Amino acid sequence: MRAQAEKALRRLAAALPGLAAAALLAGAAILLSGPRTVYGNPTGEVPLELPDELGPWRAERVYYCTSNQCARSWLQSQLPGEPASCPECGAPLAGISLGEINLLPDSTPIFRRVYRRAGHPDIMATVVFSGIERRSIHRPQVCLVGQGNRILDEYTRPTRASLADPDATAPLRVLEIAHADLDPATGKAVSQSLGIYAYWLFNPERETVHHLSRFARMMFDNCFRAYRPRWGYASISLGRDPSRPGQWEEELDDFLPRFRPLIDGVRARLDADRAVPTVLEGFSADANVYAGTNAPTSGPSGAR
Ligand SMILES: [Zn+2]
Repeated sequence: MRAQAEKALRRLAAALPGLAAAALLAGAAILLSGPRTVYGNPTGEVPLELPDELGPWRAERVYYCTSNQCARSWLQSQLPGEPASCPECGAPLAGISLGEINLLPDSTPIFRRVYRRAGHPDIMATVVFSGIERRSIHRPQVCLVGQGNRILDEYTRPTRASLADPDATAPLRVLEIAHADLDPATGKAVSQSLGIYAYWLFNPERETVHHLSRFARMMFDNCFRAYRPRWGYASISLGRDPSRPGQWEEELDDFLPRFRPLIDGVRARLDADRAVPTVLEGFSADANVYAGTNAPTSGPSGAR
């Protein structure tokens, strides 16, 4: 009898962590299912403009062909007159890629420019913002591989953060990647291009280079503070010349001190919306909208 009771107790003890987790989840589901008010204005306009000039760098817009057969991308300077259709196949052009239009949650704003400078590799700068929907920000480790890249190395690199103070740095997550160049006739890889993909994540209060730490912070702010601002994901990509191994680091250290203030600015302006209330009812994905018109967005209404 006593042995049986002890056995039952032991079983209960073993099951406790699981039961506690289940109760917590059920509690959270009940808490999150009713109408509730969150703060931080996750549906408002993102007050960001990527400028036409950034020191010696000149910006160009990028346009993407919306035919999945063609899927070419074009720089503004390659398109005569008002860019409307693909010079190669005639399909409509969009400000973001077909993958972004289709795969990201609707109403994800995407800011992008290619910055060019004679004698330097082109630098593509992209800033994507999550809203009520948090899936807008993907781990690039997954996306890049899905787009046919191989990740050769990955690490956090302190990168120059200020032109005035050469010792000021901020961490940047760097992925060294290789992309196979395919022969269009045979589909076989004929060569490979090397590149750098670097990023960091931010909200009005914080910056991080770790997706997991963004996730933990997001959960905490959402559950305990009803604070749900947009998170941004700034990424920089450029080609890597194997004959000039250190060049990309010099380019990042030159470009980032000019680019970061744009992000600091948008963080401060988003922070001014900290007290703006948004009432969520039912599934929050329905409430995911973009109030601005200053960037192309994913989904059927976007791609301006
Ligand atoms: Zn095309």
